[in-house]
Amino acid sequence: MSARDQIQSIRDEFARSLASVQSSSQVDEIRTKFLGRKSPLTTVLRGVKDLPPDEKREIGKLANELRLEIEEKLSAVENTRGVKTPDAAHFDYTLPGRVRKVGRIHPITRTIQDICRIFFGMGFEVAVGPDIETDYYNFEALNIPKDHPARDMQDTFYVTDNVILRTHTSPVQIRTMESQQPPVRIIAPGKCYRNEAISARSNIVFHQVEGLYVDQGVTFADLKGVLSGFVKEYFGPDTKMKLRASFFPFTEPSAELDITCFRCGAKGCPLCKRTGWLEILGCGMVDPAVFEYVGYDSERYTGYAFGMGIERICMLKHRIDDIRRFYENDLRLLEQFL
Ligand SMILES: [Zn+2]
Repeated sequence: MSARDQIQSIRDEFARSLASVQSSSQVDEIRTKFLGRKSPLTTVLRGVKDLPPDEKREIGKLANELRLEIEEKLSAVENTRGVKTPDAAHFDYTLPGRVRKVGRIHPITRTIQDICRIFFGMGFEVAVGPDIETDYYNFEALNIPKDHPARDMQDTFYVTDNVILRTHTSPVQIRTMESQQPPVRIIAPGKCYRNEAISARSNIVFHQVEGLYVDQGVTFADLKGVLSGFVKEYFGPDTKMKLRASFFPFTEPSAELDITCFRCGAKGCPLCKRTGWLEILGCGMVDPAVFEYVGYDSERYTGYAFGMGIERICMLKHRIDDIRRFYENDLRLLEQFL
């Protein structure tokens, strides 16, 4: 029998076998019989190299075409007739479904989103800046010159003498004011870095949200109004607040904001250390010296700024007792947040 006739007879036989397929195991048998290593077609393909040159090309082509044809027809039978469905007979409809695990938003990200959403409602927009900052933006332009004692308050990670990891989000204030004229109304969430001993209350990486509003005629009463709106929205409508005089080099006057403890209703509990009050943020009127650095007319414009630690807010609100928990990726904690 010539190779050409042999190919034709394999094709005929395959067609007959295919017509009688009943189950998936038969498809597998046919596949082995016609495409397996010992199949006639494989033998023909192996013999191609020994054929005379004029036949080599033609037979090789025919045999390969048949091989492809068989493969295609077998998979078509499997797909269209669903001969694999005998497995369906064994399908147990009472088995519980497979639960797909859905990712969640990290509590820190969620806290940032919640805080930002409240300030969006009051006309603020988000501004961002680099984590790696220069000494100028992180200290100098914020009225903290090199010999200023306030620099002792912050243990800084230095990259070079002049380049640092930002110790607060306040440099974003400077960068924003440099690039636009008042009115400026921004909130700037982001990571900060401080070279501190890691403990339950402090970490070397943490997050802050910074707020800044500069325009003509901005007063301390405006600051108080915005913070009051935030506190009631975020911690509940019954929350009361008070401002305590404080000091920051870039604001004058400066204050710290305390709110009534939302756990005990200001009666006194371990969360508020029995005082009934919780300290949540620092704020103040932008020091005119800062306006000088960015070229704003401090006679014409006034502004306020505030900043809060995201981890602290999140820990207070959700009663998380250790800042390190945010970075342990423990599902028992993370699954409690949507
Ligand atoms: Zn309390």
